[in-house]
Amino acid sequence: MAARPDYYKVLGVPKNAPAEEIKKAYRKLARQYHPDHNNGDEKAEERFKEIQQAYDVLHDPDKRKQYDRGSGPFGVGGTGSAPFDPGNFGAFGDILTNLFGTSGGTGGRGRGRTRTTRGRDLETEVTISFEQSIDGSQVSIGVPTSTPCPTCHGTGAKPGTSPHVCPVCQGRGVETEGQGLFSISQPCSRCGGAGTVIDDPCPTCGGSGARRQTKRYSVNIPAGVRDGSRVRLAGKGEPGPQNGPPGDLYVITRVTPSPAFKRVGDNVEVEVPITIVEAVRGGTIEVPTLHGRKRLRVPPGTKHGTLQRLRGEGPPRLSGTGRGDIHYRFVIDVPETLSPQQAAAVDELSKVMNGDPRQSLFAAAGKDETS
Ligand SMILES: [Zn+2]
Ligand SMILES: [Zn+2]
Repeated sequence: MAARPDYYKVLGVPKNAPAEEIKKAYRKLARQYHPDHNNGDEKAEERFKEIQQAYDVLHDPDKRKQYDRGSGPFGVGGTGSAPFDPGNFGAFGDILTNLFGTSGGTGGRGRGRTRTTRGRDLETEVTISFEQSIDGSQVSIGVPTSTPCPTCHGTGAKPGTSPHVCPVCQGRGVETEGQGLFSISQPCSRCGGAGTVIDDPCPTCGGSGARRQTKRYSVNIPAGVRDGSRVRLAGKGEPGPQNGPPGDLYVITRVTPSPAFKRVGDNVEVEVPITIVEAVRGGTIEVPTLHGRKRLRVPPGTKHGTLQRLRGEGPPRLSGTGRGDIHYRFVIDVPETLSPQQAAAVDELSKVMNGDPRQSLFAAAGKDETS
C-alpha cells in the first residue's frame, strides 16, 4: 500500500480545523482544480482526486476519527469504506453538484448520474423600474462568460510548454503559518492560490487560460416580478466541457422602489394623506392605482392608520392567475401652522369637543395614584 497522504496538508488546514473550515477549504480547492476549469491538465486532475479523497475522509466525523488514530483503509486508491471512486468522473460531477448546485439556490434540477459534466450555472442581475415590474418588460442583458483559451486549451502556458507545480506551496495553493490553534492559511504568495506556476505565458490569454466573452440576451421579465425574483434561462449558462450539456443562466431582478407604492407580497401598500375634516366627516377621495386614478370612500370617523382595500387592483400574481390588492393606509394630515381663520375655528372646536379621551385609558390601566 502506498504511503498514507496527509489529508490535512492536502486541504491546507490545521489538524484541529473545525468541520466548517474543512468544508470551506475543500470547496475552494475543488473549484480551483475541477477538471472543468483545467481542461485536461493531468496534474490538476491528480490534485483534484487527492482533494476529493481528503475531503471524503475529513468531512465524515467517524472516518476522520479513524484517520486521526492512524488506522483504516485510507491508502491512495483505498478500497473499503471510501464510497468515492477516483476513476469515475461522473461521481465527481455529482459530488460537486450536491455541494455547489444548491448553494446559490439553483438546485432541484434532479438530473441523474451522467458521464458528461454539465457546464456551470451563471447568475446575473438586472435592474428594472417599478412600473416594469408591474407590467413586465423585455430587457437586454450582457453575461460575461469565459471559455477555455483556444491557443493553450486553458492551461495558460505557451503551446509546447506546460505549467509546473508551484515551488513555494508544492501545489497546495496555500501557505500555512504557525501550528495548532493559531495557524493561519492564506493564498500562496507565489502562485496566488493556483498551485501551479507558468514560466512562458500563453500569448493569446496572457496566462489566464480563459477567453472572456460577453454574451447578450433579450430576456422577458414577467409581469408581477418582485425585487429578488429569479428568472431561469435553461441552457444559457457556461458550455459543458467535453461536449457536456450547458448550465443554466439565472437572471435576478432588482426593482427600483416606487416613491408611492410599496410592494408587500402579492399586494402593494400606499399611504394616503387625509385632512382632519375628511377623517371626521368621511367622504369620497381620489387615489392613485397602478393604472390611473380610482375613487375611494373614507368612512366618517376614520382613525389614523386605517386600511382600505381595492381588491384585484394590485400587481399580477406570478404564481397563478389574477392580481393582488392595493392597500390604502389613511394618514391624518395635521397642519403645522394655522391661518388666523383656522386658529379661530380650532378654538371653536375645542369648546364643543372638550372631553378627555384618556379617561378610558386610566380606567383600563387600573390604579391611578395621582391626586
Ligand atoms: Zn491561452
Ligand atoms: Zn504556490
